[in-house]
Amino acid sequence: MKSLVINKKDLTHNIKVIKEYSEKNLPDDKGNKLKIIAVVKSNGYGLGIVEYTKFLIDNGIDFFAVSTIEEALTLRQAGINKDILMLSSTAIKDEVKLLIENNIIITIGSKESAEVANEIGKELNKTVRAHLKIDTGFGRYGFIYSDREKMIEVLKSIKNIKIEGTFTHFSISFYKKDDYTKLQFERFMSCIEVLKMNGIKAGMLHVCNSSAFVKFPYMHLNAVRIGSAFLGRLAFPNTLGLKKIGYLKTNISEIKVLPKGFNVGYSNTYETKKETKVAIVPVGYMTGINIETGRDMFRLVDKLRYIVRDVKDAFKDNYIYVNINNQKCRVLGRVGTYHLTIDITGKKANINDEVIFNINPKYLDSSIRREFK
Ligand SMILES: *Cc1c(COP(=O)(O)O)cnc(C)c1O
Repeated sequence: MKSLVINKKDLTHNIKVIKEYSEKNLPDDKGNKLKIIAVVKSNGYGLGIVEYTKFLIDNGIDFFAVSTIEEALTLRQAGINKDILMLSSTAIKDEVKLLIENNIIITIGSKESAEVANEIGKELNKTVRAHLKIDTGFGRYGFIYSDREKMIEVLKSIKNIKIEGTFTHFSISFYKKDDYTKLQFERFMSCIEVLKMNGIKAGMLHVCNSSAFVKFPYMHLNAVRIGSAFLGRLAFPNTLGLKKIGYLKTNISEIKVLPKGFNVGYSNTYETKKETKVAIVPVGYMTGINIETGRDMFRLVDKLRYIVRDVKDAFKDNYIYVNINNQKCRVLGRVGTYHLTIDITGKKANINDEVIFNINPKYLDSSIRREFK
């Protein structure tokens, strides 16, 4: 058996740190504090969407965002009645209807999505709650920032939709170079200016994800959308003292002694150098161990970067380690789909002892038990 253990104390700590950091922003001229929108997509970043959302509610968060209709409906079916923003826009009528019927705040990102939502609002005799999305250079959802006339024309024609907010999404805010994020921000702010000039209310403005929230306080505006920071897993040095949330726990199934020169795992990448005592555990990459993000080989600069990294890695200790009875133990050979082999030579380890892995819960299969403790 295995489970993802989420330490409630650490999670509470992260929520508190994020709130305190957000409160460094002075309230706006209407006295509103910076709003925290908790992004709970991808099964709540792997923590289990319903339980995680309820935990955030208990800790004072009251606004949520998701990426799919399934996620939005899961929260409503669990009886969660807080504000939920669906971050992706769609022009598929049945889907928009389902969202509106469930009182989800939808995203308007195109003329087509606006028209469909407006039509449903009319049919249901209801003012549709929506946020406007501007594509400032991501190439996904949203009105393209330079198509202002089109955006304004659409916004003026929709009578059954109330725009309660306007947002954009950054593509590279975690990166060392900040130029592109700053450019996206400028594009966004100039669109807001144009909306104002045309008498269109943009509602609350939000552009920051976790990285931008930490790095660019001047971009906070009215609200920030926080996902990975709650888990303490940022793609750059953690300056706020956030704690990593979530570790995978399993138990040793089998123990045996392999002779010298014995192969371990698929593709025969490892051979024992001497007689080696090993533990076998029932986890592998299907349970989030050693998932490598795909290599992007389109650009020459990326290819060079990978070559440099591989050469560096050859000199570096590049193994996966796990914790057994507070001892650091090394994984041998390739990680299998559901199994791996650990060197326990000279260690204190018995059948059924706990094995602890530091993994990113985001990649963990949703069927695995989540344990908040
Ligand atoms: C995922 C997501 C976020 C949160 O990003 P983090 O970097 O995890 O904080 C914010 N906004 C949008 C539109 C997203 O898709």
